[in-house]
Amino acid sequence: MLSRVLEGRRQPARERRSCSRLLGTPPREPTYVVNEGKRTRLQARPTSAPRFAYPLIVTALLAAPTAPYRAERRELDAATCTRITNASWRDEPRCPRFDQLAYLAIPHVTFDGAIAIAERTIELFRRLYVLGFPIRQMKLVDDYAADDDRSMSADNTSAFNFRVVAGTNLLSQHARGLAIDINPVENPWRKPDRLVPSEGEAFADRRVIRPGMFVRPGPVVAAIDELGWEWGGDWRHASDDHHLVWSR
Ligand SMILES: [Zn+2]
Repeated sequence: MLSRVLEGRRQPARERRSCSRLLGTPPREPTYVVNEGKRTRLQARPTSAPRFAYPLIVTALLAAPTAPYRAERRELDAATCTRITNASWRDEPRCPRFDQLAYLAIPHVTFDGAIAIAERTIELFRRLYVLGFPIRQMKLVDDYAADDDRSMSADNTSAFNFRVVAGTNLLSQHARGLAIDINPVENPWRKPDRLVPSEGEAFADRRVIRPGMFVRPGPVVAAIDELGWEWGGDWRHASDDHHLVWSR
C-alpha cells in the first residue's frame, strides 16, 4: 500500500479518511509533527492554529501485532563465537571481546505481517514493532560471509561486523557494535550520483513513501530521535538512510 505526502491547510474528507486508515488510528488532535531541521518532535498544537496548518506526513506501517513484545539477551555461546570468528569478528586488539558483545533475539514485524525472531537493541526494535514498521529479515552478517554489500543486497538488517569503512582504513561504527543497518534496500545509501545497494534503486525517490522506509518527518524517525539514536539519513556528505548509530 502506498502512502502519500499530504500537504495543505485542510485535506478533503476522503484524504483524511485515508490517512486515518494508514495510521490505524485517527490523527490525534493535540499533537502534530514539526520538522525542525535535524530533529523532529511532537508538540502540542496551539489552540489558535488552524487544523493541518503544517504539512502532514504519513508513513507506511503495517498493523501492529497483538502478541506481546518479548526480546531476549544472551551471552555469546561457543557456536556463535565460532560462527562469527574471522567473519564479522577478528581476534585483534581493537575488536570488542566476546564478553563485550551480546546476542539479542528480537521479535519484529515482517513484510507479510508475521512475527519472526531476529536481533539487536531491544527498546529500539520494540518501538519499531509496536509502530508496525516492517523489517525484511535479520540475520547475522556472517551468513553473507561478513560481506556488507551482499548483506545489503539481500535487504538484510544487521549490526555487528568488525570491518573498516569502505575505501578507508577507519573502523566502521559497526566494528564497535554501535551501529545497525535496517532495510538497506528500502533505505539505500545515497549520493546524487550513486546509490548502494543497487537493489534499492526503486526507493531512490524518498517522496514515494512505502512500508519499511525511514522518512523524516514521520513517527518512526521521531521514535529514533526520542530514543537518542543518530540517523544516517540526517548526514550531509551522503544520506545513509538504513544506518542508525548510538553516538552518545
Ligand atoms: Zn551502517
